[in-house]
Amino acid sequence: MGKKPTVKELENLNKKTKIVWDTFNAKEQKECLEFCENYKIFLDNAKTEREAVDEIIQIAKKNGFTDIDSQTTGNGKFYKNFNNKAVLVSVKGKKSMSDGLKIIGSHLDSPRLDLKQNPLYEDLDLAMMKTHYYGGIKKYQWLSRALAFHGCIVLNDGEIINLTIGEKPTDPVFVISDLLPHLARDYSSKKVSEAFEGEKLNILVGSTPVKNKDIKERFKLNILYYLKENYNIIEEDFVSAEIEIVPAGPARDVGFDRGLIGAYGQDDRICVYTSLRAILACEKPEFTSIAVFFDKEEIGSEGSTGAQSRFFEDYVSDLLQNENNNASERLLRKVLLNASMLSGDVNAAIEPDYQEVHEKNNAARIGHGVCITKFTGSAGKSGSSDANAEYVGKIRHIFNKNNITWQTGELGKIDQGGGGTIAKYLAAYGMDIIDCGPALLSMHGPLEISGKADVYMTYKAYKAFYDTKD
Ligand code: MN
Ligand code: MN
Repeated sequence: MGKKPTVKELENLNKKTKIVWDTFNAKEQKECLEFCENYKIFLDNAKTEREAVDEIIQIAKKNGFTDIDSQTTGNGKFYKNFNNKAVLVSVKGKKSMSDGLKIIGSHLDSPRLDLKQNPLYEDLDLAMMKTHYYGGIKKYQWLSRALAFHGCIVLNDGEIINLTIGEKPTDPVFVISDLLPHLARDYSSKKVSEAFEGEKLNILVGSTPVKNKDIKERFKLNILYYLKENYNIIEEDFVSAEIEIVPAGPARDVGFDRGLIGAYGQDDRICVYTSLRAILACEKPEFTSIAVFFDKEEIGSEGSTGAQSRFFEDYVSDLLQNENNNASERLLRKVLLNASMLSGDVNAAIEPDYQEVHEKNNAARIGHGVCITKFTGSAGKSGSSDANAEYVGKIRHIFNKNNITWQTGELGKIDQGGGGTIAKYLAAYGMDIIDCGPALLSMHGPLEISGKADVYMTYKAYKAFYDTKD
């Protein structure tokens, strides 16, 4: 045995945890706060996947990106809109695509209430609309609060009517009325999972009748008349509509010291915005770099715009064609196999009042930086894409080399629940992939909470990933 180790030598063996705010100098602190001001504007402009696609394309165009379908040469900065609900943005690398691709994927959709296809009815002299919730929500959080309509209606002749109602201070809002506590005795003794029914998430949309007393359903007709006058829509048009009901109001700072952001839809627009900014900052990267923004993650990445769809590989095929006029199936497979990817999604920060559902040694915390999540899933890692130790090592090395403050976290205690991300669908190509994003409080709630330092550190981490030269 050598000589007795010093206290410092022993302490150095521990894994260090850092609080991002402690690592900032004045310049970084200022950059972080500025970054978050722009993030809040993005959140306000992108409350649905369609709005997010519009916003991303507008920002990409301003930064010199062009539609990949509109040209075959150019500066190598492309985007592609896929069905107005998913979008890809990419920058051509110095190396050939078969040497490697850097991809960050995130999702644009968030839990919400969708209008049903036959939504409108009247009851007790009130006009109401029926909803069908989308994604994992705690239903009671949507009662008795101001809600806004965001969406589009496709008319019989194909014309598309976009509408947003409830965001301007002068707009009306919508609400799901809740039972008064005085009469809630029967409800209070029910289990939460039984007390709130999906079919009771009906929205108040009107309360005044048409003047003609001889007609039936005067309250419903008054709303239909209003919609015809203002938007040129009739009841049948709701069949071909996608109207999303989301919490009304803008993103806000939270806390006296304004270190947190409270906003709807930060899962996963926090990774959307940070990866978008990271790819915009890519100038002549070593490897071709792609940011892909998927839809439908919250319902299992299904559908033509979700991560299980093939549109992502079609885009990579377009890039190959652009690079060397060779987009053979064999080359495409090779390129996808050699790719490395971050699945940009949020993790759950330890909830101060519900610490018992987390395992503290392996849970993420607000303010501790971007979180690397080796695996998701539930029970025995079921449904997870468990990242290779080699790849985790590579990402850890990149982050350490670039002074990224990072942490690792599992979603919660082993048998407490669980969840998944897009990672496993992309892993199917054989590429390296790991979940990596900030942690949120109140995830899937109407006002999700992020830490500003974590938002900025996620951007820095994504940028470091795109910037790597090996
Ligand atoms: Mn998510
Ligand atoms: Mn989610």
